[in-house]
Order: sequence, then structure tokens, then C-alpha cells
Amino acid sequence: MLRYHTVPVTPFQQNCSIVWCDDTQRAAIIDPGGELPRLRAEVERLGVSLEQIWLTHAHIDHAGAAAQLAREDGLPIIGPHEGDQFWIDALPQQSAMFGFPPSERFTPTRWLHDGDTVTLGHCTLQVRHCPGHTPGHVVFFSPQARRAFVGDVLFAGSIGRTDFPGGDYRTLIEAITQRLWPMGDDVVFIPGHGPESSFGQERRTNPFVGGT
Ligand SMILES: [Zn+2]
Ligand SMILES: [Zn+2]
Repeated sequence: MLRYHTVPVTPFQQNCSIVWCDDTQRAAIIDPGGELPRLRAEVERLGVSLEQIWLTHAHIDHAGAAAQLAREDGLPIIGPHEGDQFWIDALPQQSAMFGFPPSERFTPTRWLHDGDTVTLGHCTLQVRHCPGHTPGHVVFFSPQARRAFVGDVLFAGSIGRTDFPGGDYRTLIEAITQRLWPMGDDVVFIPGHGPESSFGQERRTNPFVGGT
């Protein structure tokens, strides 16, 4: 079964998740935005074997430390969708703008597309392309664990911003209602910022997508 541990990193308190297959201890890290020493200490403490970097999208707080971690630890970068190429190319400027440590651009080992899967040991997660916050945003869903790692698509009580370049409000709402809701009301999601919630809870009460 899939297990995970979430570590908020960067001044934006981005929920970086370490996920692993508890049969094999094979692990991936979702959205290593920064604070690599702390993330490496958590991996060590959990006793898991870090094998892959998975990215939901290429904003600095999610992808800022991906290139360094990939290079230093010899890990593949999986995702996001190629719609985020321009955000990857802008990582050096994003880090300067927000006062982050210098960040490097990179070329993902594998771009992700809607309907793809990613695997850790005996755990397979589904990939859904959920644009709107960024054009290349993807979400990772474990049907067995009933968990979804949704980055900045959806939050408890809110949705992702759509006022950045390449953002689009209607596209985001469509992604949430057409691609997240069908996963099931019982699914608990780990957002890019703030507390966890379930899709059912958000369908009932979220001011942006409640009643959909
Ligand atoms: Zn973002
Ligand atoms: Zn974010």
C-alpha cells in the first residue's frame, strides 16, 4: 500500500510529499521546492529508498530544488506535462523574484500526459492532466490508497490562482469537475498548501466549485 509523509517547505509552506510503497520501501518525492537538507533528513528518518522526483507543476515553490536533487542524488525527474516548459525555463527568474535560493532549469526525464501511470514498487498511481493554474499541471492519484496529490489545482476551501501567465479560470474549473470529482467523494487530497480535505467535502462546501 502507498504511504506518504508531507513536509511543508519554502517560505510558501509548500506541501512536499514523500510517498512510498510499504512492501518495498521504494519512494518518490513530490514537488521538492526547496530545503533539501530537511527533505533528505526526512527520507533518512523514514528509512525509505528515494528513487524518483515527481512534479505537479513548475512553480518555484514546487520545482525549485528538483534539478539540484536530481543531479546530486542521480534521480529521474518525472513530470510535469510539457505545457509547463516555459515555467521550467523561468525557474532562475522565479527564484530571483521571490528571493529563493538560485534555482536551475532542467529537462524532465519523462514528461507526463493525461492517463499515464507512475509506479513505485507495488504501487501504481494514475496521472491526470489538470491545467488552469499552469498549462502543464498534473495530479497523482492512488485508487488503492484513495489519495490524490493535487498541487495547486484545489485547496481546502479554495482553488488555484489563475492570474499567472498561462492560467485560465474556466479550464481550472473544468479540470476539477471533470477530472478530480470522478475519482470519488471519499478521496482525500493533499493540496500544495494548507490542510488536507476530501473531494466530497469540497463538492459540498468549496465556494468556487461547491455544488458541482
Ligand atoms: Zn503553483
Ligand atoms: Zn504552490
